Amino acid sequence: MPSPTEQDLRDTPAAEARWFAMELPAPGRPLQQVWRERLPAPAEGQLRITVAACGVCRTDLHVVDGELAFPGQPVVPGHEIVGHVAAIGPGVTGWSVGDRAGVPWLGWTCGDCADCRRGRENLCRQARFTGWQLAGGYAQQVVVDARHALHLPRRYSDVEAAPLLCAGLIGHRAYAMAGDDVHDIGLYGFGAAAHLVAQVALHQGRRVFAFTRPGDADAQRLARSLGVTWAGGSDLSAPVPLDAALIFAPVGALVPLALRAVRPGGTVVCAGIHMSDIPSFPYAWLWGERRLLSVANLTRRDGEEFMRIAASLALHVETRTYTLAHANRALDDLRAGRFSGAAVLCC
Ligand SMILES: [Zn+2]
Ligand SMILES: [Zn+2]
Repeated sequence: MPSPTEQDLRDTPAAEARWFAMELPAPGRPLQQVWRERLPAPAEGQLRITVAACGVCRTDLHVVDGELAFPGQPVVPGHEIVGHVAAIGPGVTGWSVGDRAGVPWLGWTCGDCADCRRGRENLCRQARFTGWQLAGGYAQQVVVDARHALHLPRRYSDVEAAPLLCAGLIGHRAYAMAGDDVHDIGLYGFGAAAHLVAQVALHQGRRVFAFTRPGDADAQRLARSLGVTWAGGSDLSAPVPLDAALIFAPVGALVPLALRAVRPGGTVVCAGIHMSDIPSFPYAWLWGERRLLSVANLTRRDGEEFMRIAASLALHVETRTYTLAHANRALDDLRAGRFSGAAVLCC
């Protein structure tokens, strides 16, 4: 037997090798608890992370419900992973065993295509995504590409940091795409992403208008507690013409409503990866140089930028925690809108 390498010695003892993941066997089925007897070894450029917490994102529902193409083999969802580096593959720099690491949705990019080279790796056609084509964080262990892991601001606990990794990041990218010429901003769908973006926008002196599901008093209360200017149902008209609207709910019918709410020259950004069909609407609602954009994924630069912002502000992260084994319940509660803020699995 060869003598142990430094890598072996840094690895977790075999006694801790038994671990489990919550796995989706096929679309539309409940996740199953699957036990594993061996720790996965990180290959070149990879880290093995012992997961502490993983956020539950609406995209996970799209994966589970089959609204995103099923990759053909069982999926471990979860792309808001917070954990500690437990083993390091060859060739990795910038990480040490024990470091806290965050892993977002963008899990691998080619680095060589036109999109990657022009700084739009979020559009890389070969990109692979955590918790979809790559193993995700609904698990006690996960192996990830070290180049796509993020260092996290210390001021947030593991549970608080998890929603920053998608709700925070995608919210940040959507907010940035609305442009600088924005004072009054509407947020449609006041959940995990919106409650973080709202705090950043308010801190920057903007006025925030929160549109929730009609009658969702809890979400409106959360919005008001964070200091928004106005909160109400998405069936209500905006009290002032908005400079921009960000849509976080996966509801296509909100697109024409948001277009009607923004002023000429204003911007509507659709932040979700999947949305129900958009009903047809009169061209006049788009006319006046209103812009309608989608946000696709994120770049590593978004991650670094947003973590700097999160480090500089004391964001209140509203969470509802579940044990990892109760991931199915967390998904059901998200689908039914049974909590405000973000669901997080404690792994
Ligand atoms: Zn690429
Ligand atoms: Zn997400």
